[in-house]
Amino acid sequence: MEISEKSKSDTTVTPEVVPLLPLRDLVVFPHMVVPLFVGREKSVSALDASMSGQRLILLAAQKDATTDNPEPDEIYSVGTLAEILQLLKLPDGTIKVLVEGIRRVNITDYLPNPDFFEVTVDNYDSTVEPTTELTALMRSCITQFEQYVKMNKRIPPETVLSISNQEDPDRVADTIAAQMILKVKDKQEILDTQSCKARIDLLLQKLTGEIEILRIEKKIRGNVRGQMEQTQREYYLNEQMKAIQKELGKRDDDFAELEELREKIEAADMPEEAKTKADRELRRLEKMSGMSAESTVARTYLDWLVELPWNKSTEDSIDLKKAIKILNQDHFGLEKPKERILEYLAVRKLADEHKGPILCFVGPPGVGKTSLGRSIARSMGREFVRISLGGVRDEAEIRGHRRTYVGALPGRIIQGLRRAGTNNPVFLLDEIDKMGNDFRGDPSAALLEVLDPEQNQTYADHYLDLDFDLSQVMFITTANILHPIPKPLLDRMEVISLSGYTDEEKVKIASIFLMPKQLKEHGLEPKKVRITDEAILRMLREYTREAGVRNLERTIAKTCRKIARQIVEKKKKKAANITITRANLPKLIGKPKYRFGKIEEKSEQGVAMGLAWTEAGGELLSVEVLTMPGTGKVAITGQLGDVMQESAQGALAYVRSRADIIDLKTDFYKKNDIHIHVPEGAIPKDGPSAGITMAIAMLSAFSGVPVRRDVAMTGEITLRGKVLPIGGLKEKSLAANRGSIHTIICPKDNERDLEDIPPQIRKGMKFHCVATLDEVIKVALPKLSPGKKTGQSKKTEKKKK
Ligand code: ADP
Repeated sequence: MEISEKSKSDTTVTPEVVPLLPLRDLVVFPHMVVPLFVGREKSVSALDASMSGQRLILLAAQKDATTDNPEPDEIYSVGTLAEILQLLKLPDGTIKVLVEGIRRVNITDYLPNPDFFEVTVDNYDSTVEPTTELTALMRSCITQFEQYVKMNKRIPPETVLSISNQEDPDRVADTIAAQMILKVKDKQEILDTQSCKARIDLLLQKLTGEIEILRIEKKIRGNVRGQMEQTQREYYLNEQMKAIQKELGKRDDDFAELEELREKIEAADMPEEAKTKADRELRRLEKMSGMSAESTVARTYLDWLVELPWNKSTEDSIDLKKAIKILNQDHFGLEKPKERILEYLAVRKLADEHKGPILCFVGPPGVGKTSLGRSIARSMGREFVRISLGGVRDEAEIRGHRRTYVGALPGRIIQGLRRAGTNNPVFLLDEIDKMGNDFRGDPSAALLEVLDPEQNQTYADHYLDLDFDLSQVMFITTANILHPIPKPLLDRMEVISLSGYTDEEKVKIASIFLMPKQLKEHGLEPKKVRITDEAILRMLREYTREAGVRNLERTIAKTCRKIARQIVEKKKKKAANITITRANLPKLIGKPKYRFGKIEEKSEQGVAMGLAWTEAGGELLSVEVLTMPGTGKVAITGQLGDVMQESAQGALAYVRSRADIIDLKTDFYKKNDIHIHVPEGAIPKDGPSAGITMAIAMLSAFSGVPVRRDVAMTGEITLRGKVLPIGGLKEKSLAANRGSIHTIICPKDNERDLEDIPPQIRKGMKFHCVATLDEVIKVALPKLSPGKKTGQSKKTEKKKK
């Protein structure tokens, strides 16, 4: 590298001939110091020539910056004579040169020189007489320039300083022109202007123009930024919030979770109101710390909202033929309920909007109420859900707790819908008769709303705090007995009764349905494990005593378990073929629990067999009465309800009034205590039907005449000895049959119910339909001959008269 420093040269005289350096994209003004990079061969030669002379060189701009070898007419004729201050030869052959402009000159001629441009020049400088006008122009030019620099970030602010101290207008004009960012053409125009005043005028004009452009540019930039901000603001703020929350302890997976929730909310297809609520809750959640208890509450709430089937439903496909097939596939018998279900489906098919009544299956446990519900769902192509209302006492269990409660959840209805995953499932409300109510509110009030087609479009759950449309849901209810169901609820429902099965029916159900089902569940092959009908009969008579088939199914399951264990333990192939018979049943499942067909051999005093109608169907119930010397106290024990207590009192009053039948002394009551006991009195509300049973037991106890043990009775009595009708005769006769009792005393008014009783049962049973207690006595206490005695008493009465 070769550096040549300036040696003393005379710059005051303009030489006649100077080498010319054409500049591609630059106009150099007098007094300006600029570095130039020179690479073109011709230019390097010009520099060499200058260096070997006075170190002066003419700098003139090319008209077109892209031309590599410009012709003289492609170079502007006015240029700046400059002095080379420093020259540096770089290793790649190019030259860096530092020049300082001296004055304007005008090219008069190009000399013939093949190596570089050599020109003759004339002075082109102006001679300025500083006038006040010029000074004023200069000042305003400086002011404009200051503003220009302020607005244009590319010019260093110090430039203004160097200018403001200047006195010479000519120099000020050139310096400003040099600093301004202008096109070569514009700069050259300024350079070309010889008169100082004209130049300052031109400058002012250009400055004003530039300032205006800058102002507009700024405004446009501002607008654009404004628009950008609008769209980016939210994003930016969100990012910032995330950063802040990160600082506060939220982790990345919290964000991922929030994002997931946001997507789920979008996908959940919620109604307007719910969506708004969900969005609000999500925004709240975003602001919370991920670990706080409050955020768990918000998150759980959102989970519920997004999981609910707001708008998801299945298409109904009601085809009666298919429905019949399904109902028969799943159930044996049950003709009447099946028929009613088919009618219901037919109406549904014809009148889409017609909601119809709500079906309520009533009957003892294990008669197929739930499984009928399931079949209805299957035959309609709907989802099925079941909730049990047994033991629900709190309204909030139906309707949910408000979210302010710790651990609050939606009510069972909403929970069921989430499980169903659609908004039109078949929804079975089981054990509607087992609902209670207490100080926590009445759940049946909430159910009323659920089951009311007028109201359930906007069913409000406390937890959701939103309306959910239940109008598409098909509700079915079940109950064991009707009377505990609140009247208004019962009004909404159509009751379909299912009574217990006869032994024959049970055998069929067991062999066709329960056995194959249980074998499958226990992994046993149906072909290899068989059961005889006698074995089933024994199972249901000696191992179970029920109206339905639930325990029978359990017993079958137990048998299957035992067999499965045998097969696994013995690992013998012989076990492959097993037949369960009447005889080998005890070996598998132990001794029978009940004695079937053996009634108490001996008739006893003071014990009468009644028939009760309970939640489990019909039941035998023996009433005992004991007298002992005492002071005339009456005790009634057992689980008796108020009604039953009254019934007992009534019976006693009647018996006392008929003391004549049994020849009692009138002071008998004063000298004896009476104790009435109902051993299995789990029938508190069914009192009225035990009236005659208690009366008979008392008569037997007082008279010492035993009651026939093969007779069961049901009926209420009035104080005057009339027998009043009762309910559930069918259930009761099934129970008598189970207990091997074949003679039933029932009220005359119930005679028409006899046709409901399955023919097999009716055939083997003798019914005595009675209107008065005397008739009961005739059958149950034949040794007490009321007719005779009554006759005697009449005579006595006459005598007395
Ligand atoms: P519920 O709801 O009336 O208490 P379930 O519907 O739970 O009784 O019935 C108990 C069991 O008995 C179920 O496995 C059911 O399939 C079976 N079952 C009841 N009735 C019948 C029937 N008529 N035919 C076939 N299976 C039956």
